[in-house]
Amino acid sequence: MSVSAAVTLRQLLPRLARQGVTLPVVPGVLDATVGGMLAADVHGKNHLRRGSIGEVTSELRLVLPSGEVIDCDRDREPDIFRATIGGMGLTGMILEARLSVIPLLAARAHVQVMATASLEESLDQLDRLASCHEHVAAWLDPTANGSAFGRGIVVGGTMVTADEPGSSDRPSVSTWDLHRGREFPAALGWLMSPTGIRCHNTVRHALAKLGRRDHLWDLGRLLFPLERWSHWKKVYQPAGFHQHQSLIPTAHGRAAIGELLELSNSASCPSSLVVLKKMGKGAGGLSFGAEGLTLTMDFRSEVGVTEILHRCDSLVAEVGGRVYLAKDTTLTPQLVRTMYPQLDQFLRLRSRIDPDRKLNSDLSRRLKI
Ligand SMILES: Cc1cc2nc3c(=O)[nH]c(=O)nc-3n(C[C@H](O)[C@H](O)[C@H](O)COP(=O)(O)OP(=O)(O)OC[C@H]3O[C@@H](n4cnc5c(N)ncnc54)[C@H](O)[C@@H]3O)c2cc1C
Repeated sequence: MSVSAAVTLRQLLPRLARQGVTLPVVPGVLDATVGGMLAADVHGKNHLRRGSIGEVTSELRLVLPSGEVIDCDRDREPDIFRATIGGMGLTGMILEARLSVIPLLAARAHVQVMATASLEESLDQLDRLASCHEHVAAWLDPTANGSAFGRGIVVGGTMVTADEPGSSDRPSVSTWDLHRGREFPAALGWLMSPTGIRCHNTVRHALAKLGRRDHLWDLGRLLFPLERWSHWKKVYQPAGFHQHQSLIPTAHGRAAIGELLELSNSASCPSSLVVLKKMGKGAGGLSFGAEGLTLTMDFRSEVGVTEILHRCDSLVAEVGGRVYLAKDTTLTPQLVRTMYPQLDQFLRLRSRIDPDRKLNSDLSRRLKI
């Protein structure tokens, strides 16, 4: 199906639902546009099974920096097609994309919620749920110490199939919660203090431990948990926040994830939200996805945070991992070259189609790409 790059997921998913279909790959944010998703080559909680959005894209219509409009795919201008997916908008402006869709079988998902007692158990449960569920992610408590270090809540979910309990709730436009969620109470800003983060994590983990394991959730709750709150970013006012997302190759998973959590704990205010996912085979180019684990950490913006982020970047580079360009605020030209070995190829293509560097961004200027 062909869609305009300007359409957001919030607009597209209900339209697709009317036709009984949906996108196989979605990030956790409904306001992302098709163009933005392709430029970052986004992944969902099911990268292990479906790959990133580029893998379910068969054709792009693109305005090159010269102003020429081209259609490209895996046969026509394959190098431009490949570089545009994950190319952070630096090869031109995507106008339209042809995306694969899958049947939307039900409005609900079978979900398992497992509270874990340690990092080892979080990683084991992530593996276990990934073997039996399509969408899997773990929330980790970075503030727990000692034997509880790395404890968390692992959630795995799979869309209900026809003729199962829950499938009588047929999918429709209302499958996706189209209304923006509840306003995040500004008074809860204290939750972003070190004490607030510690209290919130302790309560959240204890409730999951006491609660049921098996649930039937709306798909929206499984795929877009943050959308339950509108303007949730206000909780980081006035200075905002940084999000650091890294990919750690499988061989270094346990050790590197532990070190990143320790770095978070060494900040004057630890990460307020830590999410761990398993990733499958990568697509190459400047795409982020590759086999391993991806750890995402949100940090309130304050003095000393960029120093912590630089240390996270160096650690990730040392173990052969990479930082997600869509979230990056601190990488350097040297590190991005180490993390993305196909960058030279990307730069050669960029020199061919944009010799005068008409297209630039803060990211491209900082990283010299
Ligand atoms: C709450 C939240 C959850 C998220 N969850 C995930 C997740 O699960 N997985 C994941 O992979 N990402 C995730 N992200 C990141 C998000 O999916 C990406 O940053 C995505 O690129 C945002 O799309 P956008 O339309 O807002 O793009 P923008 O932020 O506006 O732009 C992102 C990049 O895309 C380029 N771009 C935008 N439109 C076009 C176009 N038409 N043609 C060419 N280039 C274009 C811009 O130049 C820029 O470089 C999340 C972000 C948030 C805020």
